Amino acid sequence: MSRSTYKLLAPAKINLLLQIVGDQFDDNGRSNGYHELVMIMQSISLADQIHLRSLGVDRIQLHCDHPQVPLDSSNLAHRAAALMMQKFPGLSGVEITIHKQIPIGAGLAGGSADAAAVLVGLDLMWNLGLTQTELQSLGGQLGSDVPFCLEGGTALALGRGDQLDFLPGLENIYVVLGKYRSLSVSTPWAYQTYRQQFQASYAKTPAEQDARRHASGSGSLLKAIAQRDIAQIGQRLTNDLERVVLPAHPQVAVLRQTLQAQNLLGVMMSGSGPTVFGLAESAATADQAKARVRAAIADPDLELWVAQFCSHGIRLL
Ligand code: ATP
Repeated sequence: MSRSTYKLLAPAKINLLLQIVGDQFDDNGRSNGYHELVMIMQSISLADQIHLRSLGVDRIQLHCDHPQVPLDSSNLAHRAAALMMQKFPGLSGVEITIHKQIPIGAGLAGGSADAAAVLVGLDLMWNLGLTQTELQSLGGQLGSDVPFCLEGGTALALGRGDQLDFLPGLENIYVVLGKYRSLSVSTPWAYQTYRQQFQASYAKTPAEQDARRHASGSGSLLKAIAQRDIAQIGQRLTNDLERVVLPAHPQVAVLRQTLQAQNLLGVMMSGSGPTVFGLAESAATADQAKARVRAAIADPDLELWVAQFCSHGIRLL
């Protein structure tokens, strides 16, 4: 039985690994503007809440409690609803309310998580009975991170991040996150700058790309994940985009160093940044690290959170 209102939890993700293999080519061997990536993604308990309410009229209404989130058709949650209304015409419109907890432009896939929640919620509200594969395919049309956000947990992600291999969930790992409120990094800027600086070293052929994928750090990190070896996971965190984001934003580099000086198991930037995170074995260690970073960097613009790894994506509340 479908209902007229739904509340959904939309968790953020961090990247335990983000390596750039080269340019992605289309079937004719031409670069399509995307990168071939090797990533390991992890959902965390820092999450937005999405409330959906069925409207009698054929319209999308969007509200958000965060002033920087766009409320027009550029919002990924709005785009998700528009895509569903286009694919399944004749169903009721929807009011979407986003309670924003995930910082914006942070490398934590906040917009993608919101879009994934709208897909799941409308599937339920309209009683469509879509399979996970059908939802993933709709998600892929909205953004590379949306398919991961739907299912969540821990996953190896290849291609532009949409070829997913879900792994057994990791739990009882804590994460301290830091981001300067007023600093956002545009994901396209980070990838374009990386291409400008490092394209000469990209794998040029499909065979070279395969070899690069195999030589990436994913093998040893996947082994550490399979063994639930938190210390090894912490040591093997990798993010190629640090090479462009940290030099452009020295304050993020300082935040990273400050986190690294705490008793954490590994520190890295997530996605295209500028959020930096550190892993901890216990909530107490994570809380202590957060308090020490707060004491070391007395800047009110710096926001800090403690969250936990979680083994799910979109959840009904
Ligand atoms: P990713 O890691 O997937 O690249 P991100 O965490 O870096 O994403 P988002 O928080 O998703 O970035 O926001 C990036 C931009 O997208 C913002 O500047 C904002 O204008 C726009 N945006 C569109 N929809 C949303 C949404 N629902 N929530 C937040 N930002 C959104």
